[in-house]
Amino acid sequence: LAELPRHAAERFADRTAARHKADGQWVDVRYDRLADEATAIAAGLLALGLQLGDRVCVLAETRYEWLPVELGIASAGGVTVPIYPSSSPEECAWVLADSQAIAVVCETAAQVAKVEAVRGQLPDLAHVFVIEPAGADVPTVEQLRARGAELDHDAVAERTALVRAEDPALIVYTSGTTGPSKGCVLSNSNVMANVDINRMLGIPQRDDVVYVFLPLAHIYGQGASLSPLGVGAAAVFCSAGVTAIVPDLMETSPTVLPSVPRVFEKIYAAVSAQVPAEQIGPLVRVGLAVRDADRVGAEVDAGTRAVFDKAEAELFGNIRNVFGGRLRVAVSGAAPIAQEILEFFNAAGVPVVEGWGMSETTASGTINRLDDQRFGTIGKPVPGSDIRIAEDGELLIRGRQVFQGYWRNQEATDEVLVDGWLHTGDLAAIDDEGYATIVGRKKDIIITAGGKNIAPANLENDLRQSPWVSQVVIYGDRRPYLVAVITLDAERLLPWAREQGLPEDLAALSGEPRVRELVQAAVDAANSRYARAGQIKKFVLLDRDLTQ
Ligand code: ATP
Ligand code: MG
Repeated sequence: LAELPRHAAERFADRTAARHKADGQWVDVRYDRLADEATAIAAGLLALGLQLGDRVCVLAETRYEWLPVELGIASAGGVTVPIYPSSSPEECAWVLADSQAIAVVCETAAQVAKVEAVRGQLPDLAHVFVIEPAGADVPTVEQLRARGAELDHDAVAERTALVRAEDPALIVYTSGTTGPSKGCVLSNSNVMANVDINRMLGIPQRDDVVYVFLPLAHIYGQGASLSPLGVGAAAVFCSAGVTAIVPDLMETSPTVLPSVPRVFEKIYAAVSAQVPAEQIGPLVRVGLAVRDADRVGAEVDAGTRAVFDKAEAELFGNIRNVFGGRLRVAVSGAAPIAQEILEFFNAAGVPVVEGWGMSETTASGTINRLDDQRFGTIGKPVPGSDIRIAEDGELLIRGRQVFQGYWRNQEATDEVLVDGWLHTGDLAAIDDEGYATIVGRKKDIIITAGGKNIAPANLENDLRQSPWVSQVVIYGDRRPYLVAVITLDAERLLPWAREQGLPEDLAALSGEPRVRELVQAAVDAANSRYARAGQIKKFVLLDRDLTQ
């Protein structure tokens, strides 16, 4: 990563590296300009005394300025440590203290205030910078860059030359769903492995415009913003967030969209509502069949072709326009996506491929290839990687993108890195043709008194399909049997209660025999589908959110 800005500038000097909105206007940044900005920031950091391996946190929403800051830190031999912009002062303090950062780059005065509130606990933190100067009385990134631009750049080149491939470039803190958040140490080589993998996959290619809106504090967003630099493509930085993305897609017409299930779910809900429900299935089948046939040059009968052409003109084309009209490939990752949504968009000519990865694999793990999709699976290992399933069902992976270990936590590292294989904590199956499917999480396993291992994820997913159920969690009773804790779906239940003349009150309804019968039917159905997985013998109805 330390060498990336210089290498990219040598190869792609006058091409556009990044596009972003400044004061309401779109601005293009060339590769040579980006490298100059990164070098100037590196020089500024060296002048402040940044040592090889020093950590610098970045606390900002997704925006262009991340790129020269992160590349500058890397060129100076430093390590970027992203912090989620929505973090509380305490969460910021955890990452700043655990990483022993010497500096932090904040986006706004509000972010600076969060850091200042906990600064007393941070003896290592010597410098605070801000990107947007308004209201903040700390030095700006622009001042750091301008000062660095006047300094001797040979010092930067000398420092960059000292950075070894195995030295850390990034420490990404995991989301902390399985315990306190841990710092994943990713080396310069890990980060470049991910860039190389995406180049080999052709996501992106040289002439692509990559839409970057994912949080850059997450490894997936990091991969999305750095991968264009490996091929000379352009990254468009947008900060609309997951739900308000459509106008920005229309405005920027990207060709590559690294994204998450939530985005496709939202857009699916909006566009599928315009089609009568009973027509969706047949249209999807025709769309997929004709696109498959066209790809390999096979014949399609005239009747099917006619249905397809009509759907193209009246529906599919409009759906493609929602994504900006030029989309070549979208990726769905970070969480499972429903197969029906994948099939719907692929039928419409919006090629969405599902991939799987984690912070510990620098984002890349497995992916479906555009010309070889197996919907419902996470595809096959990315180039240069191997996967296998351990005896207990855990998915293992090895490859150049697998991380160095958890920051200052050898014990946790030794648990997951064994003989060159990363133990992912995900439970998976690999079919005869090599496509992998995630079936649960290892820590989310119930061991019965008979010694049987049960991954409740399937039963939970199944129960969640019931219209009466909003949330569900299954746990093992000591006896042993499974107990489901279920929250009722108020949107569905309250109108029904009114029709039935029952009290429109969740607390009262959770004790109502007829409601219990409805839920019991859903539980029975799930039990019959997963008979071998164990049986839910009891359920508890909650009248409030599970998280409360
Ligand atoms: P923590 O490790 O702190 O508990 P986390 O595992 O959620 O948090 P990430 O590294 O951001 O942190 O997420 C990686 C996890 O996301 C994977 O281990 C896997 O469980 C899940 N995941 C990613 N892609 C997919 C996918 N396509 N299908 C199913 N699960 C996925
Ligand atoms: Mg994890």
